[in-house]
Parts: sequence; structure tokens; C-alpha cells
Amino acid sequence: MFNENNSMWTVLARNEEFFQIVTMRLCRPPHAARCLGKTMNRIHVLSRGLLIALLALASGCATNTITGRSQLMLMSEESAIQGAVSAYSSMIGQLSKKNQVEVASPRVTRVREITNRLIAEAVRFRPDSAGWGWEVQVIDDPKVVNAFCMAGGKMGIYTGFWEKLKATDDEIANVMGHEIGHALASHTREKMSMAMTVGVSTALLSVLASSRNSGDYQRTQNTMAMAAALAITLPNSREAETEADQIGIELAARAGFDPRAAVTLWQKMAKDGDSPAEFFSTHPSPENRMQRLQALVAKVDPLYRAAVAGSPPGPLPDFLGVAANERPVGGISREEYAARVAAEAQVMTFVAEEFERFRKGEAVFSCTTDCMFAYGYQRGSWKTLHDKAQWRELAVAVVKVGYDNDLSYFLLGEAATGLGLKEVAQGYYLRALQARKAGRTCEGVFNTCGEFAIAERIAAVQGAAAAGGAAAQSKNINKNN
Ligand SMILES: [Zn+2]
Repeated sequence: MFNENNSMWTVLARNEEFFQIVTMRLCRPPHAARCLGKTMNRIHVLSRGLLIALLALASGCATNTITGRSQLMLMSEESAIQGAVSAYSSMIGQLSKKNQVEVASPRVTRVREITNRLIAEAVRFRPDSAGWGWEVQVIDDPKVVNAFCMAGGKMGIYTGFWEKLKATDDEIANVMGHEIGHALASHTREKMSMAMTVGVSTALLSVLASSRNSGDYQRTQNTMAMAAALAITLPNSREAETEADQIGIELAARAGFDPRAAVTLWQKMAKDGDSPAEFFSTHPSPENRMQRLQALVAKVDPLYRAAVAGSPPGPLPDFLGVAANERPVGGISREEYAARVAAEAQVMTFVAEEFERFRKGEAVFSCTTDCMFAYGYQRGSWKTLHDKAQWRELAVAVVKVGYDNDLSYFLLGEAATGLGLKEVAQGYYLRALQARKAGRTCEGVFNTCGEFAIAERIAAVQGAAAAGGAAAQSKNINKNN
């Protein structure tokens, strides 16, 4: 638990002015720069020496396998979630003391119903999130229009959304979907990393350094909690906003909430000009956001219509009421639910551009030298992703490297098979065989195939497909007769 509440909020207050300076930079990242360059630019008001030291200490930039974007990640997801849990309970605890947390109201019940449906879709997007300690609280502060979702699914929404904006259920669903999108795409972890570099400076550095050896768990926890608390005050980059818009609107549409509400909501917030919504201070809002949202509405509208017209959804686990491994009376466990949606093999429309290319069967590689280092470096992790059946992550990782050989195409075939995209898989297996014939193979002097017996596996899959096709054909003939 974070028991130095006062110090945490003092740090926040003390840093307010500082954050305003940083905010201006964060909102305007140069598009072309890579993660590190961007981060340096964003926080160049700070000592670069400190940043370099921090980067040296921790892993630094990492590619987000969901969005394909390079992000600054200074802590593990586990640490980020633990920090968020501490910061959240500290925050909610303090608000509770001031009677600012709504306990039982129709509004609370409604928000839980809405978020439960969104989470059920989030699990489709990110199966591991079924195990998160999802929680939502309604914070009674009618003047504040704000909402958040921390790492690990800790959510809050302020009553200003109803009192000031008269938000509808559809609009609330789109707000929360957007916030959940930030958490799913690890934006909160990214901002915590940033908070750590800019926010609490040298104190953090020493804690980070000592925590490696001394096992000073409590101090590390406090540091993470502080970073999590700071993170929700930090603005998102435009890239992060675009990703959250895309994920959020799709979650809402799939959960049966009108995606058009995302547009009306932003219009309402933009109109609230006298006292701009807090939401805007952490959400840089480029002028073309309306057009982008409208384009997204068109994209996800069929999902919304299908959700509304379709048969009522099967049983949903109570994501907010029970622990991750618990089975509510008469219900299904989260684990069972996650397994069920995974078996549906239906993927989210939005993911990394790399994933879209892969999904359409359009990934064709031409790189043979430039990407060799990345190939050599990442191959091992592909095996792990394959073994864990993390097909989406595997596909994005392989496409991102883009190395032209049989192993790359083979793994895309495996990922497509795993996701139930049979035809797409056949295309990739074929490309793998062609690459082999042309000599672009992982076999050779330095065998880089790992434990994959590519030719055998492809032959087996194709044999099964051919047998399946023949069976289907004979079934048709029987039917016609
Ligand atoms: Zn956002």
C-alpha cells in the first residue's frame, strides 16, 4: 500500500508547473523520430544526463506488439500494474474520506454494466486482460469532466460527464472504451515511464538503482505508485490518442454502443469552452480529430449493427464483481470466457498496421540485409510467442522485422492458422515454400530455423487442408444428390 499519501500529492502539486512545460512538448512530438529521439525531445527541459542514466538502468525503448509502435518502457507490465493498484487505492481512499466516491447509485450500476460489456470485448483484443483486477469507481465531482483507466484496468469516471455534459450511455461507453484502449495498448505504462524520467527525478533514480539489489520492495512499490499517479496527469501523445480512439470506438461498437456517440461527445466537450474539460488537458486534440472519428464510425458501424441485431451475447463473467479466478454463482469464470472468445478467432479491426497487412495476407518481404540484425536478435522471441500461441503478437513481430525468408512466412502461416484465417495461412505457407525453393531459407551454414521443421509442418497442414477440402466436396456431392 502507498502509505505516504500526502507526499505523493505534494509531489503532484509541486510538479504541476513543471508538467505544464512538459505538456506543451508532449503534445507536439515530431512524427518521424523514433521512440528514444521523441522522448528526448519531449523532456529536453530535463537533464539529459539523468535520462541517459535511467535508460541505461532499464530496458528503454520497446516495440508494442499490439500497436507496433516503439514506446519508452522503463518497467515491466507487472510493476506498472502493481504501481497502478497502489496509486488507485490511495486515490480512491482519499476521495472516499471526502465522501466523493459514489457507493450505490443507479449511475454506479449503469457504469458497471457498461464497463463490464466493454471489458468482455477488451478480452477479445487482449486475452491476458481477463486476469486483470478490473474496477471502476464513480467520482462525485460534478464540475470535473474526466475519466481514466490505469494499467491493469483500474478505472474512474467523474460525475461531470453527467452533470455538465449530460452524457448518454453510448457516450459514456465511448469515453470508457477510449480509456480502456489506453490501458490495453500500454499507454499508461508508457506514461509511467515518462513520469519516472521527468517527474520525481533523482529520488527515483536512486530507488531504481537500489531496488535491483537490496530488495527494497516497499520503496520500489511507492515509486511505482507515484509514477502511476503522475501518469494520469500526463498528456497522451497524438499517436497514443489515435490508437485509443481506434480501440475504444471498436470496443464500444462491439459491445453494442453507438460509435456515433464518440463524435457527439467530443463535440460536447469542445463546446464546453468556458471551462475546458480536464479530459482535454490530458488529451491533445488535433483539429482533424472529428474527421478521424467520423472515418472510424464508418469502419466500425457494421460491428455495432451486428451487435445490436445479433442474438443476445452469451453469458459474460462479472469482471468487476469477482476475482479473476472466481466463478460467480450461475456464471462462467473469466478464464472460461477468455477461452471462449479466443476460440471464436474473431480479431479486432484495429491493431497495428502491420497486423492489418498480415491479416489480409498482404505481407510480402523484400529485406535481406538491413533487417538481418533484427532477425537474428528477435528470432528467439518468435519461438516463445509461437509456443505460447500469442498469434497476434507473433504476426506483428515478424512483419515488423520483414526478413525475406521461409521462416518469416512460415510463422505468419502459423499465426494465421492459430487465428483461424485458413486461406491467408495457405498463402503464407506457399510463400514459405517459394522462398525455400529460391534458396532464401533459414537452413544453411548457420541454421536459424530453431526447432521448426518447416517443410514437414507445411506438408502436414496442406495435407490436412486437402483432406478437409475433399471431405467438404464429397459432402456437397452427397447434398446435391
Ligand atoms: Zn486518450
